Amino acid sequence: MSQDLPKRRQIYEGKAKVLFEGPEPGTLVQYFKDDTTAFNAEKHEVMDGKGVLNLRISEYIFAELEKDGVPTHFIETLGPREQLVREAEIIPLEVVMRNVAAGSLVKRLGLSEGETLPRPLIEFYYKDDALGDPLISEDHIAVFGWCSAEELDEITGLARKINKRMSALFEAAGIRLVDFKLEFGRVQDGGAQRIVLADEISPDSCRLWDMQSNEKMDKDRFRQDLGGMVDAYQQVAARLGLTSDI
Ligand code: UDP
Repeated sequence: MSQDLPKRRQIYEGKAKVLFEGPEPGTLVQYFKDDTTAFNAEKHEVMDGKGVLNLRISEYIFAELEKDGVPTHFIETLGPREQLVREAEIIPLEVVMRNVAAGSLVKRLGLSEGETLPRPLIEFYYKDDALGDPLISEDHIAVFGWCSAEELDEITGLARKINKRMSALFEAAGIRLVDFKLEFGRVQDGGAQRIVLADEISPDSCRLWDMQSNEKMDKDRFRQDLGGMVDAYQQVAARLGLTSDI
């Protein structure tokens, strides 16, 4: 599958996406690559077709969240791998919501994978690859000024709302939303600044388990060498009703 890059000025290249200058000031083109990385990019592979699936799944989730009143950076889809988005000043936090124990939480606290948490748990990580995205507290965010107290309240409220909406969407597709990562940014609206959901929401950034079999349908298939990662993403898209247009 072709990964032809847009003929635009490149602003930033990340592990799974590239950002290009958009057609209007204040816009960017977000391009989804097939590159798949884990363990802070120590493990890397190109998975044919992954970028197209992630764009489609992310676009669908962002649209559903917008309908629910969550402001996002998404403007429109330009092609199978390209989205037009609002340029946002990214807040250097990875906001993780968890419903079920898995991944680093299990290791850190000695829980068993698959335990349902008493209530959804929100965690903050400092977004810095060189430091390996360390877990931080709300007080770290305040002391180092990564965002204001008002912004953190807004982000926390949005993350909880997003978790409710996404849990319902996936449950209707027979999928348990175990955990996921969000990123937020600031955009200028007239004179005012507001928080929007940015980046992507896809099986690269969520843990998704089949409700019947508990089979993993997310990037853990790559992290844990289970195979069939793109097939699993395809299955997620199909269950969300998105395959006819991929
Ligand atoms: N996650 C992510 N990017 C990261 C770290 C985590 O998208 O840099 C997602 C991950 O896919 C999972 C959730 O955030 O859905 C929680 O990840 P965890 O802290 O358990 O870390 P991991 O075990 O993935 O290293």
